[in-house]
Amino acid sequence: MGSSTSTSNRHWDVVVVGAGPAGSLAALDLARRGLRVLLVEKRRWPRWKVCGCCLNGQARAVLASLGLAELIDSQGGVPLERLRVGLGGRQASFPLPDGRALSRERFDQALVQAAIAAGATFRPHTSARLGPAGPLWRTVTLRDGSGRAGEDVRAAVVLVAAGLAHRCLDGVPGSGVRIQPRSRVGAGCLLAAGEATYTPGCIHMAVGRQGYVGLVRLEDGRLDLAAAFDRPLLARAGGPAGAAAVVLEQAGFPVPAGLAAAAWQCTPALTRRATALAGERFLVLGDAAGYVEPFTGEGMGWALTAAVAATPLVLEGVQGWRLALERQWVRSLGRRIGRRQRHCRTVAALLRHPLAARALFELATRVPPLPRRLIHQLNHPPTVLPVPLPVPLPCR
Ligand SMILES: Cc1cc2nc3c(=O)[nH]c(=O)nc-3n(C[C@H](O)[C@H](O)[C@H](O)COP(=O)(O)OP(=O)(O)OC[C@H]3O[C@@H](n4cnc5c(N)ncnc54)[C@H](O)[C@@H]3O)c2cc1C
Repeated sequence: MGSSTSTSNRHWDVVVVGAGPAGSLAALDLARRGLRVLLVEKRRWPRWKVCGCCLNGQARAVLASLGLAELIDSQGGVPLERLRVGLGGRQASFPLPDGRALSRERFDQALVQAAIAAGATFRPHTSARLGPAGPLWRTVTLRDGSGRAGEDVRAAVVLVAAGLAHRCLDGVPGSGVRIQPRSRVGAGCLLAAGEATYTPGCIHMAVGRQGYVGLVRLEDGRLDLAAAFDRPLLARAGGPAGAAAVVLEQAGFPVPAGLAAAAWQCTPALTRRATALAGERFLVLGDAAGYVEPFTGEGMGWALTAAVAATPLVLEGVQGWRLALERQWVRSLGRRIGRRQRHCRTVAALLRHPLAARALFELATRVPPLPRRLIHQLNHPPTVLPVPLPVPLPCR
């Protein structure tokens, strides 16, 4: 720990690792309740990340429950009215309720700003790693982007919201990740305005034999492309741009100009689960806890739901850690998110089989109540919305 670091910067009620939707909303909610919260983000900020950028009714309901109903629209969120699916050269269009498209730079930055306004301290370009647990705290080692020597801080509770791929639990006994065999990998890029076919207010979803590609217009007119591919397709097509072109052509969608020149980012295997969802003085949430291929575009809704679900346990944990809190967290995640992830996994699994995908497509076009019902379920607020807690201001 650097000798220039004051005690107030070394001791925190909560250190939150990762400033995506899960981490920044948790930081906001806890700071509002009077806790001293440090939010740490590895990357320079604001950052772009691979994502379809579609916020559904579930995500919006969680934000509204914390008084942030206007956050997305105030950033220019584009109302989403339709889902257009292309498969084998055929197309179908379905009405969407409640969705918005907003770039992740804008959305995540707005959430971080709201967390700072609520009293959280934000440290971008700093990576965090969990150290040993003491009787009253957990040590967290912070390392800034310059690679200088680490600095140790202490937190009564640590929230690990570090996304799909992170190293912050390395060395913590029992922590690891279980990756589904043959899991698809994600890829994405941003394209300049062009290609008028991809109209605003619509999610354009191209389903191919070895992956799918989602395209959506953002608030500034750029086209966000987010995809999930089988690894063999990526290898055969020479990378994500080639793979996206193959899937778009199979679906019967035009290939937008600029795919090959775009700055692509890829993700690690998508369908995974953390082996430890909690441990002594830490809880894991958002993608870091587990993720499922993103066909139904719910990841941010799950992340936000988990963030507010953590609050009561954290408030208790800062007063004194009990093993029961870890078990409660595992149950809470299962109840609020596990069921929704199972639905998403089923849809993703069906789409991997060409016959099943075609049958699903036929059914959806011939029996409109079916897709309506599925879309309604995906947009439905979480069954257990956060209980508004009294604000106890337990700052020590
Ligand atoms: C192809 C694709 C399309 C998708 N489309 C959609 C969609 O349309 N709608 C939707 O709702 N969801 C979608 N998702 C899912 C969504 O992007 C994620 O579920 C969501 O971002 C999860 O939020 P999070 O806060 O858990 O993690 P993230 O948003 O990933 O944030 C984690 C943060 O932690 C930081 N971090 C990592 N390690 C450390 C460390 N050691 N120290 C400090 N910081 C660290 C990272 O830099 C990152 O900024 C999609 C995902 C993919 C891959």
